[in-house]
Amino acid sequence: MVSRRSFIARGSAAVLATGAATPRLAAVGEAKLALLGGEKAVKKAPVAAKRWGDLERERLNAMLEQDTLFYWKGPQTTLALERFRKHCPLKYAHTCSSGTAALHIATIAAGIGPGDEVITSPITDIGTVIGVIYQQGVPVFADLGASTYNLDPADVERRITPRTKAIIAVHLCGNPCDLRPLRALADKHKLVLIEDACQAWGARYRGQPIGTIGHIACFSLQQTKHITTGDGGVVASNDERFGPLLQRAGDKGADRVKGGGFQMFATNYRMAEPQAAVLAAQLERLEGVAAKRARLGNLLTEKIKDVPGILPHQVHPEDRCVYWFYFMRFNPKKLKCDRAAFVKALAAEGVQCSAGYIAVPLHREPVFQKHGFFAGRWPVRELGLTKMDYTKHQTPEVEAILQNGIRFVIHEGMTEDYIVGAAEAVRKVAGHYAV
Ligand SMILES: *Cc1c(COP(=O)(O)O)cnc(C)c1O
Repeated sequence: MVSRRSFIARGSAAVLATGAATPRLAAVGEAKLALLGGEKAVKKAPVAAKRWGDLERERLNAMLEQDTLFYWKGPQTTLALERFRKHCPLKYAHTCSSGTAALHIATIAAGIGPGDEVITSPITDIGTVIGVIYQQGVPVFADLGASTYNLDPADVERRITPRTKAIIAVHLCGNPCDLRPLRALADKHKLVLIEDACQAWGARYRGQPIGTIGHIACFSLQQTKHITTGDGGVVASNDERFGPLLQRAGDKGADRVKGGGFQMFATNYRMAEPQAAVLAAQLERLEGVAAKRARLGNLLTEKIKDVPGILPHQVHPEDRCVYWFYFMRFNPKKLKCDRAAFVKALAAEGVQCSAGYIAVPLHREPVFQKHGFFAGRWPVRELGLTKMDYTKHQTPEVEAILQNGIRFVIHEGMTEDYIVGAAEAVRKVAGHYAV
């Protein structure tokens, strides 16, 4: 038994060492922080799931018997797209080399051109806007919901101008954006709604598969995503205006169905059969991965929702969030430590977590601050097609989210016991530092 006095002394010393304020006295029976020598809340470290194996081997073996590895009419590509449609029933679907490529293809199909504005989230992978900028469009970054971390439809509406052509709704962490009002805005202002579902494989908005409410859906198969081919992507649409353009826009502008020369300009973003073989197999794993992550993330919310000083990841009860990661917010007014100290204490409890997500909102990255996209220049601004100045662009909630967000690793290898332990750690650490 450690005496109360020595516990307080040790606690204060540890806290002073992290630069945080003195914690309040521990309540009788309150568990001691692992950081201060107490028992860890997480009893057993999670083990990473095996993400590929026999299913992929079977497809790859079939692929090796083929006499072509090219995608067009390739059996693996055909099978992969057939399986894709079971998860996301869209008439036109096209495989490509990355999520960034999928988004660039979507941007081309949507007709984004010089000076066209595209409203999107500044907390995302830069791949969301690379295609917009290559088409000489102008990303306009909107503010986000405080705990959904997704586009705030009211702020999107405020940023619509006569030059706005599209909205890219990023389903951050696999949490569906509020698509109904976004789609209503798109319809009212004749905008194209593109869903960036790169982190949202298997998610559902009010029961509907993610990607089926906007005009064009984009998915990534990069190594860290729910399912992977190492790198890769899928772009899909049900819309007769955009769907038929997807294949061309990802394949040098060549229409492989109709022929007829180059009617459109585009680069080569094709995915070959070896990766499509892996994709076909990975799609068989998707529902298991998505369902498991949804369950684990929701369980974490259930267990921490009443902890003072903590704002859980906000998900609509009728949606399925597939938690690419779990993002909670730390309330500095209710806790007597800074975020770094809080995360350090959680990590000591055995929780896999880290402070923040991306370092700064996209528009505060150096390349945006310098407007230096093409050999240090930005033609659309030089030509007077936009007045956008990213050094003056403001998204206050986004800044706050990045300052006090805490990222929890969620993966399908984790057990419910781990999540219960992680939640216990949050309760313990928040209790320790409560004001
Ligand atoms: C990963 C990701 C992308 C880009 O996908 P890549 O396959 O890495 O090019 C785009 N948007 C979001 C939200 C992502 O998470």
